[in-house]
Amino acid sequence: MMPRYEFILWMTLQNKLSTVDRVLKQVDANCVLCNTGHMENFDHLFYACPYSSYVWKAMLNWLGYHRQLSSWESKVKWMISRVKNSRQRAGILEFCFAAIIYNIWTERNNKRFNDKKGSITQGLKEIAI
Ligand SMILES: [Zn+2]
Repeated sequence: MMPRYEFILWMTLQNKLSTVDRVLKQVDANCVLCNTGHMENFDHLFYACPYSSYVWKAMLNWLGYHRQLSSWESKVKWMISRVKNSRQRAGILEFCFAAIIYNIWTERNNKRFNDKKGSITQGLKEIAI
């Protein structure tokens, strides 16, 4: 077995060290939920992505809220405003928010790492259940 310093020297001479720029080139930065070429970041994944947007809208409609929220921040502010005076409503909304976020994150991980493709309908059923 090659000593560690020799291995690092060999990797350096071969230009094969995993510097950040190399790692970034190996990762597909595109959103796997929508495959529209948008880069995955927090705002896109949990708000702007058509998949996430559909899930949010469907769940809020299911709860009887028919409004379009313009950003992630507005979603959080709206939720806080809705739960101020009702512990029961707070529990329900908090659970629904957590379920939606869990669904989006799980679906993203299934598609990104396991190449599993679930449907939005199935995701909504799981949240509702
Ligand atoms: Zn997307």
